[in-house]
This record gives sequence, structure tokens and C-alpha cells, in this order.
Amino acid sequence: MADTDIAPIMVTRREEATGFFQKLVSKGLGWARKYSLFTYPYATACCGMEYMSVAASRHDISRFGAEFPRFSPRQADLLMVVGTINLKQAPILKRVYEQMTEPKWVVAFGVCASSGGFYDNYAVLQGIDRIIPVDVYIPGCPPRPEQVLDGLMLLQEKIGNQVHRLRDTGQPNQTASDHARMLSAGK
Ligand code: SF4
Repeated sequence: MADTDIAPIMVTRREEATGFFQKLVSKGLGWARKYSLFTYPYATACCGMEYMSVAASRHDISRFGAEFPRFSPRQADLLMVVGTINLKQAPILKRVYEQMTEPKWVVAFGVCASSGGFYDNYAVLQGIDRIIPVDVYIPGCPPRPEQVLDGLMLLQEKIGNQVHRLRDTGQPNQTASDHARMLSAGK
């Protein structure tokens, strides 16, 4: 009997099969989530005008499935921090983030939210990542609408590649927990 006549033995392990379906479900959920973002705009300063511009017809953020602002953290999955955050605002921002359900993502809109910007003083938080995890930083003072859309597409790519579980485990999504671990380690 020639070697070519021997049929290879197929071994199917239960874990491998589960892994395949988990990946399939995760991909589907990722695809759905990245094109249905509900934004909570935490706008405090001049960057708010740029946020309005991105939402308006010329740049039309709805083309990316992120057109509905939600003013309740419980109905939002994307926290967009738009503008300067001073130290008195910090606990409020943290509370808003904590009230959002998982999975959730955070975008730092502009240099003030990302690093405090040119407000290098005792009253301003030097970057929101000191209190909450950030997924995407958008530079600029203020950032142009095109930059915001670029940042949004980056976030969508990130969401699409994350592991999404069918059942909510109550755990934060991968990126957020990674960042939270880094924060608690003081890095
Ligand atoms: S980044 Fe510039 S435009 Fe945006 S809130 Fe700060 S100072 Fe204003």
C-alpha cells in the first residue's frame, strides 16, 4: 500500500473546537461593537467646538457608526474626554468612567486631555491617564476633525482585534485591564 493511500487521522480536541467558535463569536461581536459606538462626550473646553465639527455634516462622524452622543454613562461605551480637566473635575470624570458598563473605551481628545497641554500648573490634571485608562490619544490643540476621525478608526481597529466574550464576565476589556495593571504598578 502506497503512502498516499493512507488517510490522515483527524484528531479534534474539544478545546480546539471551542476555541474556533469562540474566535468566530469574538470576531462577530468585535465587528458589531466597533461600528456601533455610543459616545459620552465629556466636553469641558474649547476642544468641544471641534467635537461639534466632527459630528456635523461636513465630517459626519455617523459614517463611522459613532453618531449618537449619550449623556448617561450607563448608555455609552465610548468616553471621549474633550478638553482641559482640572483637579476638581478629576473625581467627577472618574465617577463617570466607573458608571459605564463593560466593555468600554476611552479617547483623550486633544493635548489638554492627553497631557495637560500648556497648562503645566498645580490646578490642571496632567493627562487623564493618571486616573482612568486611555485607549487612544488624539494630539493637537485643538485636533483637526480629520485627526479625530483617524483616532476613531484606530480605536475601531483595536476593538475589532480584542477578545470579546459572549457572556459578560464582569471583567474589563483587555486593553483597559492591561492599562489598569500598569497604573496600579505605578508605571
Ligand atoms: S487642547 Fe487646546 S483647544 Fe483643546 S481644550 Fe486644550 S487649549 Fe483648548
